[in-house]
Amino acid sequence: MGGNEKHYVGDAFESNWIAPLGPNVDGFEHDLAEYTGTPHVAALTSGTAALHLGLILSGVSAGDEVICQSFTFSASANPIVYLGAKPVFVDSEKLTWNMDPELLEQAILDRIKKTGRTPKAIVPVHLYGMPAQMGPIMQIADRYGISVIEDAAEALGSHIDGKMCGTFGRFGILSFNGNKIITTSGGGALIGSEEAMIRKARFLATQARDPAPHYEHSEIGYNYRLSNVCAGIGRGQMEVLPERINRRRDIFEHYRKTLCTGSADQAKTARDGSTRSAVPDNEQKHAPFVFLPEPEGYFSNRWLTTLLVIPGVENGVTREDIRLALEAEQIEARPLWKPMHMQPVFGGCPYYGNGVSDYLFKYGLCLPSGTAMTGNDLDRITGMIQHITDKILR
Ligand SMILES: *Cc1c(COP(=O)(O)O)cnc(C)c1O
Repeated sequence: MGGNEKHYVGDAFESNWIAPLGPNVDGFEHDLAEYTGTPHVAALTSGTAALHLGLILSGVSAGDEVICQSFTFSASANPIVYLGAKPVFVDSEKLTWNMDPELLEQAILDRIKKTGRTPKAIVPVHLYGMPAQMGPIMQIADRYGISVIEDAAEALGSHIDGKMCGTFGRFGILSFNGNKIITTSGGGALIGSEEAMIRKARFLATQARDPAPHYEHSEIGYNYRLSNVCAGIGRGQMEVLPERINRRRDIFEHYRKTLCTGSADQAKTARDGSTRSAVPDNEQKHAPFVFLPEPEGYFSNRWLTTLLVIPGVENGVTREDIRLALEAEQIEARPLWKPMHMQPVFGGCPYYGNGVSDYLFKYGLCLPSGTAMTGNDLDRITGMIQHITDKILR
C-alpha cells in the first residue's frame, strides 16, 4: 500500500457508503479515465468480469468464434467460454511476445473459409506489461470489421508513443487483482470511448435493473460492480502508480545489467530491440540470458521481469537449474505462462501457431519483481543466479 488508501477507505466507513457504488467508485473511475486518456470507465469486481462484459457488448454469443492470444493467462480466454463461444488461439511474434498480426490475419481468413463466418471479436494481450503491436492489429481488425477487446490487465501505464494500452481497441480491460501493478485487493475496469457502451456495462454489472420503482428486468444481468471500499484502495493506489512503474523498471534494469555483463552480443540484442528479435534465431551465438527489449516507441511498465535462458551452450545452465536453485532458497520464480493452446481445457480449440510461445514457455522464467523488494533482495537473487550459472559452466 502507498499510504493514502486508508484515508479513502476511512471516508467510505465514515459516510457509510459500504456498497457497490458511491463517491470512491466515481472518484476511482475519474482517476482512471484521466490517467489512461479514455473518456469512459466502469469499475468492476475483476478484470475477468470486464472481459466478460466487453465480449457481451461486442455482440459475442453462443456459437460465435473469438480470436484470443494463446500466450496469456487463462482469464483472457475463460469469458469466451462463459458465453458459449469458441476461442481460436493465435501465437505471438518475437518482438513483443504478443499476438502476431500476420498470423491474426491468416486465422481470420481461414476461419471465414472454414466456417463461412467472421470471428466476432479479437482479444490481444499486453503480457508482462509489454504493449502488443496495436497498430497492425487494429488495421487488420478494422479491415474485417471485428471488435477488439484489449487485455491490459498486466499493462496499466504501458504505452506506444504515449497512447496508453487499453485505449487502442474498442474496449480495454484493466485488473486490480492482488498481484497486479496496483491493486484494490480484487477489482477491474472496462474502458472505452463509446459512452453508451460503458453506460450499458454499468447497467449489466448491477443486475440489469430497468428503471422502475419495483425490480424490473428485461435482460440477464451480473453482479460485477466494484465496491466503494475497494475503490477507496484504488484511489490511494493511483497516487503511487507512477512511482510503482519507475520501481518495476528499475528492477528490470538491475537484473539486465547485472546478469548480462560481459556479453557484447547480449547488449546488442537489448540495444537493437526494434530490429532484432528477442527470440534468437541462432541459439549457439548467444549468451545464455535474454531480456525482452522495448521496441522503438514502446514503453513497458515491466510488471514482471522475465528472462529467457537460451539453450545451446554445451552442458549450459537451464531455466530449471535457475528456478530450482531459487526455490531451494524459498524464492519463487515461475516459468512463463503456459500458452492456452497447450492447456488441456482448451485442447479442442483451433490454433494458428509458429512455435514462438512454445519456445517462450520452455525457456522463460518470471523473476521476483515486487516493488517491495529491497536492493539487498535483488542482489541476493542475482548473486544466486550468477553462482549457479558459473558452477554449471565450470
Ligand atoms: C490478471 C489477469 C486477468 C484477469 O484479471 P482478474 O482481475 O484477476 O480477473 C486477465 N488477463 C490477464 C493477462 C491477467 O494477467
